[in-house]
Amino acid sequence: MILGDAAHGMSPAAGQGASLAIADALTTAAVLHPHTPESAFTTAIGRRRTATDQARTTTRRTTR
Ligand SMILES: Cc1cc2nc3c(=O)[nH]c(=O)nc-3n(C[C@H](O)[C@H](O)[C@H](O)COP(=O)(O)OP(=O)(O)OC[C@H]3O[C@@H](n4cnc5c(N)ncnc54)[C@H](O)[C@@H]3O)c2cc1C
Repeated sequence: MILGDAAHGMSPAAGQGASLAIADALTTAAVLHPHTPESAFTTAIGRRRTATDQARTTTRRTTR
């Protein structure tokens, strides 16, 4: 599993990369348990992907 910049490199201009990496770690820690249903894990990862995609899109738009 990869998290943070390795998963979603972000322009430093965003000032968001560390926050996103920490949110990745907290989300993963919350669902990374043997009793977590796979669907909950998939949902959590999907939410992180949505958040990082939005941050990347916003950054691209505002820092051109
Ligand atoms: C100039 C600048 C300003 C920034 N300002 C902000 C800001 O204001 N706010 C914000 O939220 N983010 C900011 N960021 C982004 C933020 O620094 C990164 O998004 C964040 O550090 C990513 O954390 P990470 O743990 O994913 O990766 P990293 O912090 O890069 O950590 C990866 C670690 O893995 C180590 N590593 C690499 N390869 C290996 C290997 N093979 N074996 C073992 N270890 C390895 C590296 O040495 C490093 O310590 C800024 C970035 C830059 C460059």
